[in-house]
Amino acid sequence: MIDVNDLRLNPEQFRASQRARRADESLVDAILSADATRRESVTRYETLRAEQNAFGKRVAQAKGEEKQALLAEVKELAASVKAAAATAEEAKAEQEVLLRKLPNLVQEGVPEGGEDDYVVLRKVGTPRDFAADGFEPRDHLEIGELIGAIDMERGAKVSGSRFYFLKGVGARLEIALLQMALDQAIKAGFTPMITPTLVRPETMQGTGFDIAHDAEIYRLEEDNLYLVGTSEVALAGYHSDEIIDLTAGPVRYAGWSSCYRREAGSHGKDTRGIMRVHQFNKVEMFTYTSVEDAAAEHERLLAWEEEMLAKVELPYRVIDTAAGDLGMSAARKFDCEAWVPTQADYRELTSTSNCTTFQARRLNIRERQEGEGQKGTRAVATLNGTLATTRWIVAILEHHQNADGSVTVPVALRPYINGLETLPVL
Ligand code: AMP
Repeated sequence: MIDVNDLRLNPEQFRASQRARRADESLVDAILSADATRRESVTRYETLRAEQNAFGKRVAQAKGEEKQALLAEVKELAASVKAAAATAEEAKAEQEVLLRKLPNLVQEGVPEGGEDDYVVLRKVGTPRDFAADGFEPRDHLEIGELIGAIDMERGAKVSGSRFYFLKGVGARLEIALLQMALDQAIKAGFTPMITPTLVRPETMQGTGFDIAHDAEIYRLEEDNLYLVGTSEVALAGYHSDEIIDLTAGPVRYAGWSSCYRREAGSHGKDTRGIMRVHQFNKVEMFTYTSVEDAAAEHERLLAWEEEMLAKVELPYRVIDTAAGDLGMSAARKFDCEAWVPTQADYRELTSTSNCTTFQARRLNIRERQEGEGQKGTRAVATLNGTLATTRWIVAILEHHQNADGSVTVPVALRPYINGLETLPVL
């Protein structure tokens, strides 16, 4: 959530941010107007309260008829105070509703526009030349079936479309990948976490997901619980309503969880294989840090993602996502997209977001404020980034395939899969 004081101080910055997102600019002025109403109503309430207190003293000193008259006025005043208090509360609630609709302030330098307006920051590695290798690449599902790694048919039988079984080397490959990601995170100082995947509404909302309108979220009505689409949600909620100590530097967690997504808006998109599924696994980095350190930590998260991509020997590009594609909480987002040969395109494998203080404000996560002239506490910054997901298997199978349909295991991954060098055709 945005600090309304920041909005009041620099409304134009927020209007520009909304414009960059191609979002409703008038929301900023609606919040300012609600804020003015709230402040007026609070002032009115305080004035009436002061009058009421002063009246109390006069009543105590008065006698006889004068006292009776004053008592009647006191009654009237009390009713006015009560009404003013209610108006102030209402105005506050109205302002809160509007504020919750306002997405995070876009960081300077983020490209303006929608999904297609990203900027490619760099390309790393080159897509494999299958013509030079002398064969047509198979797609990940065909390979997955040849090596007995993916069973979509039974996934659909058991759970419906966009569900699957990873079996045999498929299951082992996924565990190896996630284990390698977790090991890397632990070496970098992250605390490994296995998180809840069902969370309360306030946790879901705290991270910036709109539970009332988000068609992506699975919910369990009877229990008032929500299935997470990422462990980011649980890891952000982990320190809610706490004051955390950042004096020794950022606090970092690596969450291992299943992720659930309804993919409601993806009708007809990526219907083949495991590219876009309802349930997948992920190792996610999550950092709490100071506002001043957030942009540098964002670069560090991206570097760790790229370290993982190098380990699985995939060509990829890094994009700076455009403002309109940032989602509610992020001020900036970098995606790494790996080359998928049969799609002749780069597809997203990782995503790292700097959410600045947006989530921490909603979840009430603070640090003590040190230094001259500063007192109390202030909101921290939160960031997240993908280290590995089930989707990586798509790119690994396709990029490292051999002419017979077998798959060469990337060297760094072999220790995690019993030294296996090749996933053979069955
Ligand atoms: P996001 O949290 O949406 O930025 O996604 C993070 C990563 O999760 C993506 O880069 C993908 O690797 C993976 N992912 C997201 N959605 C899906 C999905 N529906 N099926 C498989 N993997 C997904």
